[in-house]
Amino acid sequence: MRQSGRLGDAPQAETPTRAAGLARLASFVPYAAVYARERNRVVPPHDRVSRLSPYLRHRLILEREAVAAVLDAHPRDAVDKFVSEVLWRNYWKGWLEHRPHVWDAYLDQLRRDRDGLAGTASIGYAEVIAGRSGIACFDAWARELTETGYLHNHARMWFASIWIFTLRLPWALGAAFFLRHLLDGDPASNTLSWRWVAGLHTRGKHYLARAENIARYTDGRFDPKGELDEQALPLTEPPLDLTPRVLPALVELNTELPSGLLLTPEDLAPEVSHLSKLGFRGVAGGWDETVGEDLDLAPPVVDFSRVAIADALSRAEAHFAAPLKSLDKTEWQADAEAWARGLGVRQVVTLETPVGRWRERLEQLDGRLARHGIALVRARRTWDSSLWPGATRGFFPFREQARRQARLEGFTRIAQPQPG
Ligand SMILES: Cc1cc2nc3c(=O)[nH]c(=O)nc-3n(C[C@H](O)[C@H](O)[C@H](O)COP(=O)(O)OP(=O)(O)OC[C@H]3O[C@@H](n4cnc5c(N)ncnc54)[C@H](O)[C@@H]3O)c2cc1C
Repeated sequence: MRQSGRLGDAPQAETPTRAAGLARLASFVPYAAVYARERNRVVPPHDRVSRLSPYLRHRLILEREAVAAVLDAHPRDAVDKFVSEVLWRNYWKGWLEHRPHVWDAYLDQLRRDRDGLAGTASIGYAEVIAGRSGIACFDAWARELTETGYLHNHARMWFASIWIFTLRLPWALGAAFFLRHLLDGDPASNTLSWRWVAGLHTRGKHYLARAENIARYTDGRFDPKGELDEQALPLTEPPLDLTPRVLPALVELNTELPSGLLLTPEDLAPEVSHLSKLGFRGVAGGWDETVGEDLDLAPPVVDFSRVAIADALSRAEAHFAAPLKSLDKTEWQADAEAWARGLGVRQVVTLETPVGRWRERLEQLDGRLARHGIALVRARRTWDSSLWPGATRGFFPFREQARRQARLEGFTRIAQPQPG
């Protein structure tokens, strides 16, 4: 293994398939042990980090698989940092599951900020998202994001901080700019990371981008000395109740009932789940264009999800030996309803859809199916049901609990490939 931590020529275009995700994981594994040392450097093509996020985000590959792969190849201490970072994804997910109204509050804020753009602020905003703020590093990242659908974590932190504290633009618009372009755009990781940078997540603790830090970790490519507000105060907002709520109850899966399997881009590996042994009369999935509309998702983001769904459908068709149905993107709800009725099933099963647009769509579909006596069952993976309950407080107690659970089970749940 080369000690530089480089992965070689990382591909620029992402192929939205499980096979491509597994190949990316396999090529990262040898370098996972130098990840802790190298991960903060921001040098394209970002071969010091895994670039697995679009695959993990759609669950083309699973967090469990990523963790198991690095633990199989290295001593645990050597890859602890990577495992921790993967757990951040699950922490944010669990945190938002306990407080879904934080997502709703974000969407309300976004609507208000978009209305506000009709005023004079829009001139600055349009220039900034076009990569013409005049701050070279920031403009390079704006272009990189729109051209590749990816930004390194450190660049995301600097970008968000400069957006909020130097350019003084509304944070919700910045989070929407990320969601529009990121192939891994995620309601939990994105919204909560922006809130964290702003000082709204941990009240009064914000993240200020510093020119010296940018120069150091970009290997001197950028040096915005004197251009950044390094003294700004954290943002404030009207009080938002952050008390954790009870996690949403799930309808129990009855394995005896005739069932159909519905796939959403929230989880596209049904053959590697606790559903894998069940029989289904049919498998359906497809992009719902109403999901992309109000979030204004960029075409490459929609395309990634569309192709990923098609990949999952064909894997599921082969695995479950069930006929597949591609749902109409303009009439997704009606088409899903007609598919379930046509199959004559009593329940439609889908892998859990966390807080976000797909959860909302499934809640609507649930109402439609209920009229025909068909239950919609969101089946939660063991990974989520064991981790989410620990996401009521900060990340460090969450991680400790995850480690304790893993240790109690001899690390098998996390380390060994198994369904769920
Ligand atoms: C303002 C801001 C917005 C963000 N928006 C998103 C988003 O929409 N979707 C998203 O997946 N991540 C988001 N992140 C987290 C993080 O930046 C990305 O997950 C990471 O950069 C993806 O690149 P990678 O796969 O090479 O990561 P690696 O460093 O190789 O990490 C491996 C995996 O761990 C997870 N991970 C790593 N760091 C974090 C983190 N800080 N928070 C949550 N998960 C993490 C990701 O799934 C990632 O693929 C955001 C961070 C910030 C600061």
